[in-house]
Amino acid sequence: MHKSINLDGIEVVYDFKRYSGSKNIKITVFSTHRVLVTAPKRVRESDVNAFIISRSGWILPLLGNESNVNHKKNLLEKKMEYKKLKRRAEEILSARLRHFNAIYGFRFKSVKIRNQSSRWGSCSSSGSINFNYRLILLDQELIDYVVVHELCHLREMNHSPAFWRLVEKSIPNYKVLKKKLARLS
Ligand SMILES: [Zn+2]
Repeated sequence: MHKSINLDGIEVVYDFKRYSGSKNIKITVFSTHRVLVTAPKRVRESDVNAFIISRSGWILPLLGNESNVNHKKNLLEKKMEYKKLKRRAEEILSARLRHFNAIYGFRFKSVKIRNQSSRWGSCSSSGSINFNYRLILLDQELIDYVVVHELCHLREMNHSPAFWRLVEKSIPNYKVLKKKLARLS
């Protein structure tokens, strides 16, 4: 059976066969035009797809021309790097939020890590806090400043003196950090 799957933007066509005797999903690349995937009878299609995708870093270089390969490889590396950083960011930023919210005791609905290009963080009136995953690449004091900044927006959705008094409670040198961060963006 002919099937196709999108691997990092490339449509890869492959032959698909199921064998009752086989134990594992197996991918064989015979040539740039011939890829064979075999799987045990019972394995779900979604598992087969997940397996193929997990091996895309190995499959794609075998299929494309040199320049194409490097381009795809870079894309793939970037994607994996992003995934890794995002996971790290989730851990680090949730921990810092919990740490500082022990002081404030505000209620928030969700914390999301995003690939926002222009902002380090944001906070909505519905109580969800968003952070840019790149935030964790900054110095700890700047990370903490952004975390506290967004946290305090849960109470004050503005930059009034009352807002900055809240921030100052846990970040006494917030003015310096605010300037440092502005120089970075
Ligand atoms: Zn703000």
